[in-house]
Amino acid sequence: MAPTTNDESTPPRVPIPGPIIIGAGPSGLAVAASLQRLSVPSLLIERSDSIANLWNHQTYNRLSLHLPKHLCHLPHLPMPKSFPTYPTKSQFMSYLLSYTQSFSLKPIFNSTAVSAQFDPVGVVWRVVVARAGVGEIEYESRWLVVATGENAEPVVPAEEQAMEGFMEKELREYREMLGMSTFELAMDMLKWLPMKMVDRFLVMVAKIMLGNTKKYGLKRPRLGPLELKKTTGKSPVLDIGTLSFIKTGKIKKKEDDLRGLIRYSIVQNCDFFTKEGKPKSQFLNTWKGENGLYCAGFTGKGLLGARTDAVKIASDVAGQWRTLLENKKVVS
Ligand SMILES: Cc1cc2nc3c(=O)[nH]c(=O)nc-3n(C[C@H](O)[C@H](O)[C@H](O)COP(=O)(O)OP(=O)(O)OC[C@H]3O[C@@H](n4cnc5c(N)ncnc54)[C@H](O)[C@@H]3O)c2cc1C
Repeated sequence: MAPTTNDESTPPRVPIPGPIIIGAGPSGLAVAASLQRLSVPSLLIERSDSIANLWNHQTYNRLSLHLPKHLCHLPHLPMPKSFPTYPTKSQFMSYLLSYTQSFSLKPIFNSTAVSAQFDPVGVVWRVVVARAGVGEIEYESRWLVVATGENAEPVVPAEEQAMEGFMEKELREYREMLGMSTFELAMDMLKWLPMKMVDRFLVMVAKIMLGNTKKYGLKRPRLGPLELKKTTGKSPVLDIGTLSFIKTGKIKKKEDDLRGLIRYSIVQNCDFFTKEGKPKSQFLNTWKGENGLYCAGFTGKGLLGARTDAVKIASDVAGQWRTLLENKKVVS
């Protein structure tokens, strides 16, 4: 639809018939695809130059999924049978690309949502997006889906910033390693045991695998890995390759390097999010807010959570979409 503008100081406004989805990571793609299957159009905004910025640009090349593929595929399209149980980063990226193509998704890249505000008069969300080479545009829609990721902001140690070009992709984050099958086992154990007990088990396994990381300046967080994930949304992993660089002194760690996420909420005047941009409610209740606001990928359950969120969001929006179509308030 053609943009309209009132004066030079306000960005041009573009009404969007379906939802605006912020973030073309796995969660945003899953929502857009699930909507597409129900014949609901959407606008998918991505700040980087590709889909799944986290996987594409911010993880090391040796990375594989740490949960088996049947728990990590997006809705409506399983991963190929030829993939191993724990697909590599490049396999997962190729799956995401073919997912994007299969559902004819067309994210708008290099476009950062800088603010989103509900307008109670127009009953629409006003989302200001800074588009590289274009400037700011204000998109408006009845529905807003925030899929900006629990782990989307990288924690970059000062040394890495100084080492431009050196192991660029390999050293994105200091993380504690749960290991592939260990993590899966932990998920199973949670069915029977309290989180604190499973955490103790994981810490014990990490100690056996990694030794005493304290002597390299890596103090174990006060909380256990699962509790940390639950309270902060971060997946605590320390890459073994990175650890070996720390051990051999190729990387020196400063205490401050383990700061948490630096984030802010793009959704303004809204009680649904914390100021860091995470939904206040936990886990299964994170997917739906008020006034057509939705959230995908904040369940603390990785890609499986993204999958269930996407299906719920699409079905909820599609119900409203059909009513509006019947009343001729939207055009398909
Ligand atoms: C190293 C690592 C390994 C992992 N392995 C697994 C695994 O094996 N299994 C599993 O289930 N989970 C895993 N996870 C969890 C991970 O969070 C998910 O894999 C997945 O990336 C989550 O998808 P998402 O779309 O919610 O978030 P993200 O992948 O973070 O995507 C968010 C997207 O939103 C974009 N964005 C953010 N802000 C804006 C903005 N303001 N405007 C426009 N775009 C924006 C980002 O650029 C990004 O592309 C892993 C995470 C990490 C870091």
